[in-house]
Amino acid sequence: MSANADVAAVLYEIGEILTIKDDRFRSRAYLLAAQRITSLTEDIHKVKERGELDKIPGVGKSISATITEILDTGESKVLEELRESLPPGVRQLMELEGIGPKNAMRLVEELKIGSIDDLEKAAKEGRLRELKGFGEKKEQNILQSIGDYRNKQTRFLLGAVLPVVDDMLAWIKDSPAILKAEVAGSYRRKRETIGDLDLLVASNDPDAASQRFVEMPPVDRVVSHGATKSTVFLKGHMQVDCRVVPPEAYGAALQYFTGSKEHNVKLRGISVKLGYKLNEYGLFMREGDVLVASETEEEIYAKLGMSWIPPEMRENRGEIEAAMEHKLPKLVELDQMKGDLHCHSKWSEGTMTLREVAEKALGLGLEYVAITDHSKSLGIAHGLDEKRLSEQAKEIEAVNREVKGVTLLKGIECDVKADGSMDLPDSSLRDLDFVVASIHSGFKNDEETMTNRMIAAMHNEYVSTIGHPTGRIIQKRKPYSINLDRVLEEAAKQRVSMEINAYPERLDLDDVSSRKAIEAGVTVTIGTDAHALNQMEFLPLGVSVARRAWLTAKDVVNTRSVKELVKLRRG
Ligand SMILES: [Zn+2]
Ligand SMILES: [Zn+2]
Repeated sequence: MSANADVAAVLYEIGEILTIKDDRFRSRAYLLAAQRITSLTEDIHKVKERGELDKIPGVGKSISATITEILDTGESKVLEELRESLPPGVRQLMELEGIGPKNAMRLVEELKIGSIDDLEKAAKEGRLRELKGFGEKKEQNILQSIGDYRNKQTRFLLGAVLPVVDDMLAWIKDSPAILKAEVAGSYRRKRETIGDLDLLVASNDPDAASQRFVEMPPVDRVVSHGATKSTVFLKGHMQVDCRVVPPEAYGAALQYFTGSKEHNVKLRGISVKLGYKLNEYGLFMREGDVLVASETEEEIYAKLGMSWIPPEMRENRGEIEAAMEHKLPKLVELDQMKGDLHCHSKWSEGTMTLREVAEKALGLGLEYVAITDHSKSLGIAHGLDEKRLSEQAKEIEAVNREVKGVTLLKGIECDVKADGSMDLPDSSLRDLDFVVASIHSGFKNDEETMTNRMIAAMHNEYVSTIGHPTGRIIQKRKPYSINLDRVLEEAAKQRVSMEINAYPERLDLDDVSSRKAIEAGVTVTIGTDAHALNQMEFLPLGVSVARRAWLTAKDVVNTRSVKELVKLRRG
């Protein structure tokens, strides 16, 4: 979060608490100041350095002192004192849509409700209507808000869930009672955000299997514990449902719980036409309920006359029709990835040396990594100018001589300026192996402006790919306005690739747009955008987007060898 957003969040909170305290004048002042700072385009640190905080409209002397304190210490004494003065529970209830400070206060004081869980219980038992102004309708609305609140709270980035699942499966599989285990649901389909996890276990000893599950180290709270179904919350509020099935029904359950809903609805319709019935226990003849297939997914799809469909494709986007004609594309695999095409280092805002990058790449089994530090106009990121770029080239050559088995490519993440020109001259770009052109500013411009800017960048003959092409940050920032069809048409003409940025918050292009790119005849590059060594492990996230986009090895530039890659240069 930027400093501006941090400051605004503190001011909002102060304003909200003052509202409860009926200090209307001060409350309004803080809320207004928070709004002003949210819409401020300049970094607030700079305003402070100029000593002009109190010149921001709505920010007077005392609020400007609060802002200075937040920027200097990261905290605010005013806020701390106000928080202390609040009854516990009030602030939590205020998180709910439709519950203002006054009502939160009344619920706490008059009904002794101390948390959202308490409130849910009271609403379900119909106790809220004891409170004046609260009726049955309002209770229903509150339950709805609680549901929405939980949903919002419980969507996790795929990148955050991957390591959790790896640890969980390692623990689960390390029990003799468990024959097979997988996480189904949106996780298995590798959606960019995941609600809860659906763990599926094959076992002939369900009691032992579910016992193993509830004893997992990261479990925070066991919600229910049964032989065939248990639910827990992990630390960090992730919900995991575990279902234990006999091994002979594992395939049917896996198919059923993987979804998506739309995919399964369509599949069940086809089953009916063929005289079958499909459910979580298996595929049955409609007449006589005779079991036809259940042990593996492959058998089930085969009986329905289809090729097995990779989970990432199961969204009812044409995969069922393609599977019936046995014309599914052969999706790109992680082990076909020969390199990473977007990586920072200490030369700009990364935390790792070039040598560390090379050694990490060796460990990951990669043949090459394109070093793409920022260019000079990104001052905060310590971007490279012509001189430092050529110094970096020398260090890259040295590392390439010293570390055998992996090649660092000379590259840059070159900023695309407002007029679409490149931040570095052709004389610098010409010497590079790989150029990522990225837009990092002007996100509020209109579609025409942004589209023209990107197209202008693609006309530079040294540009290899467009970095994080829509600029979106998952759950935080919408894509900037851009006419993707026009961009892709031009990219195909200019033979410029589009990036799938594998950074967990980005995954940009997303699955739908990546598929569009390929249909327009544009290839895709995958880059981790690593700023730290362990972030080089994000490559599988990029591959999962590619697979959801139906991409094959030939669609993804990273499947090429170094030699082939350098040949792709246009300039
Ligand atoms: Zn970038
Ligand atoms: Zn980057």
